[in-house]
Amino acid sequence: MTVHFPFDNTYARLPDRFYARLAPTLVSAPGLIRLNRDLAQQLRLDPDRLSSPEGVAFLSGNRVPDGAEPIAMAYAGHQFGSFVPQLGDGRAILLGEVVDQNSIRRDIQLKGSGPTPFSRRGDGRAALGPVLREYLISEAMAALGLPTTRALAAVLTGEAVIREMPLPGAVLTRVASSHIRVGTFQYFAARQDVEGLRLLADYVIGRHYPHAAESDHRYRAFLDQVIAAQAELIARWLHIGFIHGVMNTDNMSIAGETIDYGPCAFMDAYDPATVFSSIDRQGRYAYGNQPRIGLWNLTRLAETLLPLLSEDEERAVAEASEALEAFASKFEAAYHAGLRRKLGLLTEREEDPTLAGDLLKAMAENQADFTLIFRRLSDAAAGPERDEAVRNLFINPLAYDAWATRWRERLSLEPQGGVRRQAAMQAVNPAFIPRNHQVEAVIQSAVEQGDFAPFEELLTVLSRPYEDQPTLAHYSEPPEPNQRVYRTFCGT
Ligand code: AMP
Ligand code: MG
Repeated sequence: MTVHFPFDNTYARLPDRFYARLAPTLVSAPGLIRLNRDLAQQLRLDPDRLSSPEGVAFLSGNRVPDGAEPIAMAYAGHQFGSFVPQLGDGRAILLGEVVDQNSIRRDIQLKGSGPTPFSRRGDGRAALGPVLREYLISEAMAALGLPTTRALAAVLTGEAVIREMPLPGAVLTRVASSHIRVGTFQYFAARQDVEGLRLLADYVIGRHYPHAAESDHRYRAFLDQVIAAQAELIARWLHIGFIHGVMNTDNMSIAGETIDYGPCAFMDAYDPATVFSSIDRQGRYAYGNQPRIGLWNLTRLAETLLPLLSEDEERAVAEASEALEAFASKFEAAYHAGLRRKLGLLTEREEDPTLAGDLLKAMAENQADFTLIFRRLSDAAAGPERDEAVRNLFINPLAYDAWATRWRERLSLEPQGGVRRQAAMQAVNPAFIPRNHQVEAVIQSAVEQGDFAPFEELLTVLSRPYEDQPTLAHYSEPPEPNQRVYRTFCGT
């Protein structure tokens, strides 16, 4: 009996300069923390075998499964606005690709699996805390319905990694539509390797944007679709209060998935200037700045594609600019459509963005909890007798009353109401998000006491974010002032 990975590796068939071939580094005492059994099944992997000692040897990098062609991918990127021509997988190894139950090709990657030629000064390892954080938040994002990489497993290595102090080491098995980034395109552009760029673009079109291949202007169509996917993704981040924290171009997936969960966090009280990341001192990646940064990153992508867009440079720049101009309207459309759903509006009216914007403004002025407000509005949609729970979240409840009158007038113009509206609102306004103080608390229990029960419980709660879970209702509560977490760390 052995674990069979049905690998079919297409990226490893691209030319050698796209990656470095190497196996993960051995670890001394691998131990399974958690296997995502549902995801294993989606990937057509046997969860029982994966959690056996042999499976854990694969998940820790101690054994390379048959059919794997392990590689560290090459990429570049702008980090906080500065270009670094070579980054690459410094602590991750792509084992290979499998085609899942839905015929979708997915990468299986070990993160924290030892040094690679791209490690620069790093040790190639991951500490337990950041591995648990990525596991929790990426799985929460998936349950919330957002495009994201997934977590298949987390294992302990039995070895310490040295950060400011020795910490338990761990490996995350990450699953992604692919690990190709804006920075992967920048890697070839920086080397003026137009052939490499074209191979990469054709590969990505074949794998992620097959419709673009039908266009007479396939690279333009590809750029348009990446822009549309990112506009949609970032709008969805805003709808649930997510702050990525390090939107460097190497952390932006070409497939439109949320990727590279580092110092990411969810906002509690609504404030567009919210920043958690300890390294983001200027607020470059603040909650409300994410659309602007998304466009900045896409502009870097468009620049790399110029040689493919047209042989005529002026023409190429015109094509790129036209494509980028669509970002704002695509983002606005997705953002406002989502806000309408959050407010229980199924039809569209010109005044809706103002109505939504005024609520957000009142929330900001009253330090109101973003997630709870919308969840409780779902109940208040049934009638003003349920208003109290929403009002109480505002420092000055009168700010809500004035707004609620306008909201009810607007609701009266909707074709359907009552219970169906409440259900529709609950399906888009989560009760549970990975609140930072809870994430930090479960990580602390695991790292300091070796107690993974709180991690497991939080993971369970977050797997059904849109359902009321009365016995676990305390997980929906915002932090008390003394529980607030103001800073999250990259945890490399
Ligand atoms: P990140 O900020 O985690 O997205 O990583 C940025 C770059 O640093 C990527 O090239 C990573 O592979 C690399 N990197 C991060 N942490 C480590 C580490 N512990 N060892 C080697 N490389 C790392
Ligand atoms: Mg990264």
